[in-house]
Amino acid sequence: MVEIKTPEQIAKMREAGLVVAEALKACREAAVPGATTGELDAVAAKVIADHGATSNFLGYHGFTGTICASVNDVVVHGIPGDLELRSGDMISIDCGAIVDGWHGDAAITVLVGEGHGQELHELSRVTEASMWAGIAAMKRGNRLQDVSRAIESYVRRQPLPPKGKYGIVEDYGGHGIGSAMHMDPHLLNYVDRGRGRGPKLVPGLCLAIEPMLSLGTPRTHVLEDEWTVKTNDGTWASHWEHSVALTEEGPLVLTAFDGGREKLAELGITAAPDPLA
Ligand code: MG
Ligand code: MG
Repeated sequence: MVEIKTPEQIAKMREAGLVVAEALKACREAAVPGATTGELDAVAAKVIADHGATSNFLGYHGFTGTICASVNDVVVHGIPGDLELRSGDMISIDCGAIVDGWHGDAAITVLVGEGHGQELHELSRVTEASMWAGIAAMKRGNRLQDVSRAIESYVRRQPLPPKGKYGIVEDYGGHGIGSAMHMDPHLLNYVDRGRGRGPKLVPGLCLAIEPMLSLGTPRTHVLEDEWTVKTNDGTWASHWEHSVALTEEGPLVLTAFDGGREKLAELGITAAPDPLA
């Protein structure tokens, strides 16, 4: 069952999305050499509390963080703690918030300090841009698989990294979002022809779109802490995510400050008006 939201409910999700945007902005600024992932977690927790929102990550199946802090070869679900960031590291920060029962969920990748090779800049750029390609496919008349295809085909059109190819992680994907963080439908970041085209995209549908790319394998494994997901070949990974509503007037990127206006305009798409503006 896919939950279809009213415009009023989407406005609530926009409130939650803006809290997530603020939390990630603060985390980005705090992600400097010497900071620990636990300190970033506290930064996000304070922003969420200051807005009167609550975390949907903290306590989720026992998760102990407000953010997931995934460093270098960790793809997703890294547990914040004592790990100290060093110049040259790459961290993906995933964060969510709830306002009046409505959820937001987004992630960014940050290159910490300096000294990153060109391939890491490209890895993050391609991951983020593939997310925007997926967002741009969120239009009426399309089906869920069209979003998956847009993400995958964007990645496959890019120049290959020096040591091989981009691994599109297959064990995790995007999801419906609304009155819960993880809802139907599951969104693959690649086309699996065996699954069919999926549900039609209709106004009121909200998706968290979140590609994860490595510089090598798509294969991952979970560490003994039962959360941390690493690439099987030790190559580094990037993760970007936005929560997006399809409205009568087009897509609204709930977790982007500008609702996605600027990035979607570059792709020839007009973002829906901000219900809170
Ligand atoms: Mg997330
Ligand atoms: Mg998500």
